[in-house]
Amino acid sequence: MAARLLLLIPSFSLLAGAALLLNIAGNLTTEYQTVITLIPYLLTLVAALLGYGFNRSQVVLGALNLCCAYFLIQTGLQTSLDEAHTYVLFSLLSLLLPLHTGLIAAYQERGLITPYGISRIAGVVITYLLLYISWENRSLGYLLADLPMITLEMLRHDLYLSQAATIILSLALIPAGLAMWFRKTYTEAAILSSLFSAALLLALFDKPLVSSLFVSASLIALCISVMQTSHDMAYLDELTEIPARRALMTKFATLGRHYSVAMMDVDHFKKFNDTYGHDIGDQVLRMVAAQINKVSGGGKAFRYGGEEFTVVFAGKSEQECMMYLEEVRERIAHYQMHIRNKNRPDDNTEGKEHRNNEPETEIVHVEISIGVAEKTDHHQGPMDVMKTADEALYAAKEGGRNRTVASRQAQTPKAPPKKAPAKKPAAASGAKKDFAN
Ligand code: GH3
Ligand code: MG
Ligand code: MG
Repeated sequence: MAARLLLLIPSFSLLAGAALLLNIAGNLTTEYQTVITLIPYLLTLVAALLGYGFNRSQVVLGALNLCCAYFLIQTGLQTSLDEAHTYVLFSLLSLLLPLHTGLIAAYQERGLITPYGISRIAGVVITYLLLYISWENRSLGYLLADLPMITLEMLRHDLYLSQAATIILSLALIPAGLAMWFRKTYTEAAILSSLFSAALLLALFDKPLVSSLFVSASLIALCISVMQTSHDMAYLDELTEIPARRALMTKFATLGRHYSVAMMDVDHFKKFNDTYGHDIGDQVLRMVAAQINKVSGGGKAFRYGGEEFTVVFAGKSEQECMMYLEEVRERIAHYQMHIRNKNRPDDNTEGKEHRNNEPETEIVHVEISIGVAEKTDHHQGPMDVMKTADEALYAAKEGGRNRTVASRQAQTPKAPPKKAPAKKPAAASGAKKDFAN
């Protein structure tokens, strides 16, 4: 939940900024106003190039949708809405903009220069083009009598939002909200915020520069989302969603003179994979990463690779880290992970007999071993410290696993700690497997 809220911060801050600027936009000189009206075209170009460069079709489509709507507003809607012809243009545009935004939010990424990508682009461009041509031919006014009242009547007399536009905006919130919730990317956040932007743009349509400001805010959010998404792709591990090795190298570059590095490795993970399969293995790695990521004492967790993790403590000695590392190790050892019993048949009739005898879920445990080392005068740099931590990890494995060994004690490993208590689950449905030796 908190992670999702963080994703929303950049785009909704831009939206708030645009709303604040709206108050002073009317006081700007004509020259400044003219420059501001051109900014969305420039931003569209930047967003489209970024989207194309990073193969993010949603970004290109989002930018195109905003640009087409903005172009129509700038060319056809800079006069009073009293004329039937202009009024219909506004009404139809106020449906088209949120409709496309909702559709773009719902689209799965299918590439840009692909049949899907090209037909989606064509869908956006052609609908706006048809509207533009009808406006150019002055044929829109004739539609006034034929359009349903909800597309023409405003929700409130002081807002330029028709009832139909409000319905489409609300409906578009569903795919945009769901996409944001499940896909959890900055681009989904930018698209969701662009719906709010569209609502404000339309509702406050008579304010000077309203479309330039809100369209610019949405386009900037889309551009930023490409940067943030590509940063995350490079620095976050895809499986566990914690920082990856590249981020660890960046962290290493910022460390001062006093720090400690801990290396962690899941015990007997190969055996675990062989027993439960790679998919369950992946689930376990996610759980282990989530627990390691909760490390306290200022430790920063990274997935080093495979089933190995690294925690860096800036400004701490290995002795000071021990307590926090032991906390993590014990939390993982005590964690009861419920997995579906793979021997339990799925088929209803076939499984009936077995079902009475076999528990529905199994409870599995994994354990980790930890080696920790602090920076001393003998170390050249963080990579060297990591090597020493790796040696301590090796000692932890040699000493019986499920333990933390500090490099200073690596020569004389402690006696094995007590195993995690093999509690029976409260529900009668569990069988327990322990992957400690
Ligand atoms: P030890 O206690 O000595 O560490 O034994 P181990 O079996 O954990 O050590 P080993 O290095 O032999 O095995 C590591 C295993 O981790 C092998 C590989 O299949 C598994 N593994 C590495 N990355 C992943 C991953 O992303 N997902 C899954 N499911 N398994 C992985
Ligand atoms: Mg390993
Ligand atoms: Mg291992």
